[in-house]
Amino acid sequence: MNLQNQTAIITGGSRGIGQAIGKKLASLGANVVINYIGSEEEARETQNACEALGGKAMIVKGNVAELADCEALVQAAVDAFGRVDILVNNAGITRDNLLMRMSEEEFDAVIQVNLKGCWNCMKQVARLMMKQKSGRIINLASVVGIIGNAGQVNYAASKAGIIGMTKSLAKELGSRGVTVNAIAPGFIQTEMTRSLNETMKEMIQKSIPLGRFGRPEDVANAAAFLASEEAGYITGQVIQVDGGMVM
Ligand code: NAP
Repeated sequence: MNLQNQTAIITGGSRGIGQAIGKKLASLGANVVINYIGSEEEARETQNACEALGGKAMIVKGNVAELADCEALVQAAVDAFGRVDILVNNAGITRDNLLMRMSEEEFDAVIQVNLKGCWNCMKQVARLMMKQKSGRIINLASVVGIIGNAGQVNYAASKAGIIGMTKSLAKELGSRGVTVNAIAPGFIQTEMTRSLNETMKEMIQKSIPLGRFGRPEDVANAAAFLASEEAGYITGQVIQVDGGMVM
């Protein structure tokens, strides 16, 4: 796989899965635009790591929940590299609670960042990619968006929504040579999953046929494939990277 001369935007690229995706795409030669909201130091470390791997990289602060920030993010990528070939909608948050205890703020925050954030960025790159007659959009969903999870009605709704948006946009942009796919990770070891208690983690691990939790690199490998020329006949799909947890 070769991503030389291609430009990739990765939202939430400062940590975890987004950071691994940035590094993987850079290692394949892509110019990488790393978005973050608060972790400037981590974003810079990711930028340095991407450059050390041979790609050009830059960081752009912005809240994906704000359409104007997404417009500025895409403009920064175009100003620096002239085009956008790959968009990875990775930024995401959780605000877990049982429905009976979940506040309206907890519901709205997750929908705004995870679902609207994804829409905001797709909206900003769609025209560019249609003009280019090429492009790759990769959205981070979750197995929770497929099977649900107690305590995550907000998160599950946002991720199920991402799957619906992915399939719909794949149908809208297919004739223009733009593919739109989703990745649904299972349990990946990042900051997001660190707070689960040991009993919970043991239970989850037992339900994974491959017998281990996922690594951010496992997801990055799938993203790199979907971003590549080799995946040119795949669109509207949800690729599960979950060790066989959900099937
Ligand atoms: P993470 O370690 O918590 O990192 C989240 C990233 O999103 C950070 O870079 C953070 O930036 C960024 N972010 C958060 N809110 C943002 C906003 N409003 N605007 C821009 N960036 C924002 O999460 P992760 O585990 O790597 O997850 C990445 C994606 O995979 C998420 O969409 C998540 O739902 C999905 N996923 C994860 C798992 C898992 O097991 N970890 C499973 C299924 C799906 P700052 O560093 O600046 O805060």
